[in-house]
Amino acid sequence: MMFKKIVIANRGDVAIRVQRACREMGIQTVAVHSTADSSAMHVRLADESVCIGPPASKESYLNIPAILSAAAISGADAIHPGVGFLSENPSFAQIVQDHGLTFIGPKPEHIKVMGDKIEAKKMALQLGIPCVPGSDGAITTKEEAVLVAKDIGFPVIVKAAAGGGGKGMQIAFSETELSNAIQLAQSEAEAAFGSGEVYIERYLANPRHIEIQIVGDKFGNVLHLGERDCSLQRRHQKILEETPSPALTKKVRENIGNLAASAMKKFGYESLGTIEFLHENGEFYFIEMNTRLQVEHPITEMVTGFDLVKTQIEISAGKPLKIRQNEVNINGHSIECRINAEDPDNFMPSPGKITDYHPPGGLGVRIDSGIYSGYEIPPYYDSLVSKLIVHGQSRKQCLARLRRALDEFVIGNIKTTISLHKRLLDSKNFVEGDYDIHWLEDHFLKP
Ligand code: ADP
Repeated sequence: MMFKKIVIANRGDVAIRVQRACREMGIQTVAVHSTADSSAMHVRLADESVCIGPPASKESYLNIPAILSAAAISGADAIHPGVGFLSENPSFAQIVQDHGLTFIGPKPEHIKVMGDKIEAKKMALQLGIPCVPGSDGAITTKEEAVLVAKDIGFPVIVKAAAGGGGKGMQIAFSETELSNAIQLAQSEAEAAFGSGEVYIERYLANPRHIEIQIVGDKFGNVLHLGERDCSLQRRHQKILEETPSPALTKKVRENIGNLAASAMKKFGYESLGTIEFLHENGEFYFIEMNTRLQVEHPITEMVTGFDLVKTQIEISAGKPLKIRQNEVNINGHSIECRINAEDPDNFMPSPGKITDYHPPGGLGVRIDSGIYSGYEIPPYYDSLVSKLIVHGQSRKQCLARLRRALDEFVIGNIKTTISLHKRLLDSKNFVEGDYDIHWLEDHFLKP
């Protein structure tokens, strides 16, 4: 049975994205919000809203009892976690189910395995997915680390098992740097995730970040919807994403897509998922899996015409996938620019009041955002305030459209990354699709 009312346990553009799908499906929506977000657009657009706590995320958007209470008092039958916050918290998914509600996402046990990157790599290998060479499990002593590093070769990267958002990663080019890197990664991970567990991988010199979008239903049907190239990063965080990747051929795309889909079928995975790889010298190496909707999902929607959020809701309501793999067509090219409220020169957050707002429009232009003229961006949350997504029949047309859309875009009077994206379009490497995960930091920002 289709849901009647869904609590969206999130804020900003993603809360609105989920609301839009619900509205088109005739499902009522309940927004939850902190006291800092009472005038946010996701609250204004929802059918109902419930205040769940003070500004700090820990006391509001991460406050499980308050979110469950919002579901109880509004009479909702399901909870959509959005992206970030509680979306990859297996206990939350379980608790939601234990309260007789549906968690719109995968099974708690799948979230749990993939949420621990050490366990995720072990599982990936079992499922036949190739991984970046590295330690078999957690590393606790410097001696262990040296043995592994000597085996796989320097440079190596020390990563947090509970990592996310690019935090808790340290690179070591030599044995002398290694113990420092371990200590730094451990303390950063402890502070950010409450667990200092770390592991080691070979640090790849010039890979691209290629991720495969997966969708599976409760009947064992699993599809892949092509890849997204998210190599343009700063501090291991994505800035711009595109699909198809300029680096893959149709054949390579099909092979890696089929490998990912068949592995997920074996795994018994349901709902949306993204398998992230580093791609270098023709090889793919698994780094992690995200068991949720992804920030950059719109570019996949633009080239496939497939509404990922609607499909995600239908799957959780027990509906089978309506299409088969041979009916998935990749049409044209799409790019997403993450517009952050940040100083484009030093990336310092730039919250504050938006005095003027004029979003771009026209054919092939999509904005997913919760900002408006007069809106005051609170300082407590992620600095992503808008996603500009464009589609073109070819990459060339997509780039031309992106340039004119960025030129139309006005967000005054805060600092944003719009100018950074404009500068990217002036770069020969970007225009030619010639970049890897290190290029933006090593060559573009520091020429
Ligand atoms: P998070 O969960 O914090 O996003 P990921 O494991 O997904 O961490 O990695 C994020 C980014 O860090 C990758 O896209 C890549 O740019 C970089 N990275 C991660 N592992 C490696 C590696 N072994 N070699 C080189 N870069 C890496």
